[in-house]
Amino acid sequence: MSRNTNKAVSAAAIATAAIMTTPAQLERLGEHLRKLRLVKSGERLEALLQQAAAEELPYAEFLEQLLSAEVATKTSKNIAMRTAMARLPFVKPLETFDFDYQPSIDRKQLLALASCHFIEHGDNVIVLGPPGVGKTHLAVSLGLKAIEAGYRVLFTTAASLIEKLTKAHAEGRLEDKLKIYTAPRLLIIDEIGYLPIDRVGANLFFQLISRRYERGPMILTSNQSFGAWGEVFGDRIIATAILDRLLHHAVTMNIRGNSYRLKDKLKAGLVRSHDDNASQPGGEI
Ligand code: ADP
Ligand code: MG
Repeated sequence: MSRNTNKAVSAAAIATAAIMTTPAQLERLGEHLRKLRLVKSGERLEALLQQAAAEELPYAEFLEQLLSAEVATKTSKNIAMRTAMARLPFVKPLETFDFDYQPSIDRKQLLALASCHFIEHGDNVIVLGPPGVGKTHLAVSLGLKAIEAGYRVLFTTAASLIEKLTKAHAEGRLEDKLKIYTAPRLLIIDEIGYLPIDRVGANLFFQLISRRYERGPMILTSNQSFGAWGEVFGDRIIATAILDRLLHHAVTMNIRGNSYRLKDKLKAGLVRSHDDNASQPGGEI
């Protein structure tokens, strides 16, 4: 067939499609799509019909194109909504993490965690290490993977969590508040150990951990070794009870390395690296 004949066929097909789709039909289709909340298809309906006619698309292919664009739009909207609901302090995907800078991290272990099987199994992930080594970054990145996998995630710092639980407890609203932290499939509790926790706070924290125990996986980060949690919670017995539940099904990552915040200063030789400090008392977690 010559190019001219091809052109003529396509023009005829478009014309046929235009004849086949009456304005009333277009209106009805638009209405159906609106009712089904297929917004994307509604906006592009006329153009899609014309394109399908011009390209003489088989019916199944036309439907697949229409629906896959709709699914893609809905999925990305859903991810954006759950990302906002997660209250992450920043959005940094795992792909932005520089593993070469932090050789103490087992890259394979982390990639396995990124598959989100730990959530299915109800395992906790505990990330320990000094400031600046990427604990929050990794917790956020794993949280984003969980969101992509379809889970509901909530991020909080330990200080904010305890403050909110203490306030709710004082106002007789503890049950409602606890539900907020037990409902999401994955709860991230960042910065355990940055601020001391009083007796009431430690008890409330224990209640939350007990409720999520063996039901809701968590990611926790701390700059303090488990041995120091007695001091963090101001009570060795409570700390032991908390750790007992947390560690029953858990993966612990101990990051030993330099703060990423000091990367440029280290390069310039303005501060000493972790390797120089490791032999000194307190150099290791
Ligand atoms: P921590 O929670 O351990 O104190 P953060 O996760 O807050 O540390 O890291 C401090 C800053 O450095 C953040 O902006 C984080 O994104 C960045 N960062 C830390 N480690 C890395 C890394 N290995 N690759 C890329 N960015 C990093
Ligand atoms: Mg942090």
